[in-house]
Amino acid sequence: MSLELTVLGCSGTYAGAGNACSGYLLQGGGVNVLIEAGSGSVANLQQHMDLAALDAVVLSHAHPDHWLDLPVLRNAWKYVLDLEGLPVYGTAGTLSLAVLFTSSNDLAPTIAWSTITEGDEIAIGGLSFRFSRTDHPIETLGMRIDSGGTSLGYSADTACGWSFRELGDGIDLALCEATFAADEEERAHGVHLTTAQAGAMARAAGVDRLVLTHMIPTGRPELYREQGSEAFGAQVSLARPHERYEL
Ligand SMILES: [Zn+2]
Ligand SMILES: [Zn+2]
Repeated sequence: MSLELTVLGCSGTYAGAGNACSGYLLQGGGVNVLIEAGSGSVANLQQHMDLAALDAVVLSHAHPDHWLDLPVLRNAWKYVLDLEGLPVYGTAGTLSLAVLFTSSNDLAPTIAWSTITEGDEIAIGGLSFRFSRTDHPIETLGMRIDSGGTSLGYSADTACGWSFRELGDGIDLALCEATFAADEEERAHGVHLTTAQAGAMARAAGVDRLVLTHMIPTGRPELYREQGSEAFGAQVSLARPHERYEL
């Protein structure tokens, strides 16, 4: 086992009761990385580790359900834990908003910000990240993380114009957004995927295991699982808070 993924929040657009917006703890390569910091994810993170032990944060895009806990995570590091230099990676658009939200000209010294864009490759401890721009209205970065011969793919938010293929072959586990049910293509059009679209895309890209996430809070989990599995051609999992996947 070289990667462990723990779901902290998996609600799409807003946090449903008992859930949080997007947030995933990735552990491997000797580091603890928070992928996405949606509302409520930092509270749930503390059920698994101390905030002080966080090695980095990676944010896919500037939509609020993916990063709004960053300013409060900064509060924790700055005013309570008295720590500096948390590496945070995100798009230029996310940086602009984060600076506004923290009422400062600069996120430093608490946050050591690095702007990332399509095609970038970064290393965090023993984890290698590669980013690919998805099909979403603002700059959004899907990502592949490799460690010790295993690979995780994450779609971030995307519509049908992007595929896990963009991240190369050999993805062991794909975490894919499936915001809407199969019969809601109209609502998803141009911004998000349905369950059926996510399953079909992951199948065509040849991923090994598929976990659906970013379901709208009004969605029916059983229906999402059933529709996703049918399109994927094998059983899919539906992300749930505190669920852990080992790769
Ligand atoms: Zn979203
Ligand atoms: Zn989005």
